[in-house]
Amino acid sequence: MITIYGKSVCGGVAIGKLMFCKRNEKVIKRTQVEDADAQWQRFLTAKETALSRLKTLYEKALADVGRSNATIFEAYQMMLEDPDYLEYIKNIIRTQHVNAEFAVAAASDHFAQMFSAMDDAYIQGRAADVKDVSGRVLDVLCGGSEGMMEMDEPCIIAADDLAPSETVRLDKSKVLGFATMSGSSNSHTAILARTMNIPAIIGLGEALLEKYDGRAAAIDGFTGTMYIEPDEETVARMKEKQAGDLEQKALLEQLKGKENITKSGRKINVYANIGNVSDVGNVLKNDAGGIGLFRSEFLYLESSDFPTEEQQFSVYKQVAENMAGRKVIIRTLDIGADKQADYFGLDREENPALGYRAIRICLTRPDIFKTQLRALYRAAVFGNISIMFPMIISVDEIHKIKEIIREVKAELTEEGIPFREDVELGIMIETPASVMISRELAKEVDFFSVGTNDLTQYTLAIDRQNAKLDQFYDPHHPAILAMIRMAAENAHAEGAWIGICGELGADLELTEEFLKMGVDELSVSPSMVLPLRKRIRECG
Ligand code: PEP
Ligand code: MG
Repeated sequence: MITIYGKSVCGGVAIGKLMFCKRNEKVIKRTQVEDADAQWQRFLTAKETALSRLKTLYEKALADVGRSNATIFEAYQMMLEDPDYLEYIKNIIRTQHVNAEFAVAAASDHFAQMFSAMDDAYIQGRAADVKDVSGRVLDVLCGGSEGMMEMDEPCIIAADDLAPSETVRLDKSKVLGFATMSGSSNSHTAILARTMNIPAIIGLGEALLEKYDGRAAAIDGFTGTMYIEPDEETVARMKEKQAGDLEQKALLEQLKGKENITKSGRKINVYANIGNVSDVGNVLKNDAGGIGLFRSEFLYLESSDFPTEEQQFSVYKQVAENMAGRKVIIRTLDIGADKQADYFGLDREENPALGYRAIRICLTRPDIFKTQLRALYRAAVFGNISIMFPMIISVDEIHKIKEIIREVKAELTEEGIPFREDVELGIMIETPASVMISRELAKEVDFFSVGTNDLTQYTLAIDRQNAKLDQFYDPHHPAILAMIRMAAENAHAEGAWIGICGELGADLELTEEFLKMGVDELSVSPSMVLPLRKRIRECG
């Protein structure tokens, strides 16, 4: 048995086979399609994205390793524009009526075989290049930065690290737990593990070897310990711990249906955070009073192209209906920084967390924003939906959002499409700027929701993705608590309510303090709803 240690990001015990995340194993399926032209267009768009990435790589290589070494990326660009290659792909799509992925994979095999069969050693070498270039287009077409593996049986997933776009693509019913070499506690992957309530350990470092792939393993998410080929005694101990955990959960079950009320009678709303319609079952199972944060960008991350208005409408409607009148706060697209979807074609940035993301994308690409707003206003007819906007730093942004909402409503009215007029609007308080002008902002909206993950990152100037900084990342820092207090006072002074939807909302050491500040709502991962209710009921 080998024992390795990391950092726990979600408690619980998992016992099962370890599976290493192999990113380059793309399974390309042949799918018959009606609209061959649409597939050709998909290919052309993906090719453009792959070309622009190659240009970036070329420039980087030029600076890092000089022209002679960088030329390979120029050659790759030429290969992608080669008329024979393009003609071959177009032909397959048009004559066989198949998906673009299949056509690219077929072209890749065809040209690689052709080059390999040549006598000239130089040309033979081009076989690997055509595969590499085609793989880059497939990466774009398959969405996410890389393809993800398929699992036959429930496994503990191991990886160097997982991007949010990869985590959302995993078949969750088959994930027993996560174990990663790097990663930080505040990353979206850690948050996703908590939302899914899956035992997870990060920061196992080099000790997590790829050769453990396929071996039996156990992870203790409470202590951050991982066992490879655990001996009988350890398995028995882990099983016992697992049973104890279930027993604890059963005890918490007794709190279902009870109020979130302190001994002195102060009530507070406890809602849950979700990233997907499939999380709603967990929200209901844990008896949350509503959904305080639906991270709608996960819809975009799961997809290989912009989700259409109809696709979004059907998801939002389903969530609203399943929640049967309970509040559902849907945050508009918060893409960018660590949450990347290739088809957005976003440039690489020096400081992505301070970059082109969230509301900044929505306000400069109103086509994307309007599609989402139309879907939200239409879905609001079917339940108690509120809309929340991320990364706000100014009153002017809210004025612009309201102007776009007016346009959306006018267009829906003109088209005779039903929508709800009076949807509650709120903003995330996750930048120091928004705290400092919270009195002005509160005049404009119905509610605030404090995003403590980003607020901590921006206030303490600590990258939430950087595992090395975890020791400095102090969400209990007096500056953060003072900011929440200030935002709460200003919200209430203008008749708005305030909640916390960042991870700090689930910090039971702070519950009493949040109650004293007058926070009206706490939104936490579904599995934290009942422990939080227990804590609130213990407060004076
Ligand atoms: C936050 O920043 O606290 C938040 C809730 O949003 P996200 O974690 O998705 O950035
Ligand atoms: Mg945030």
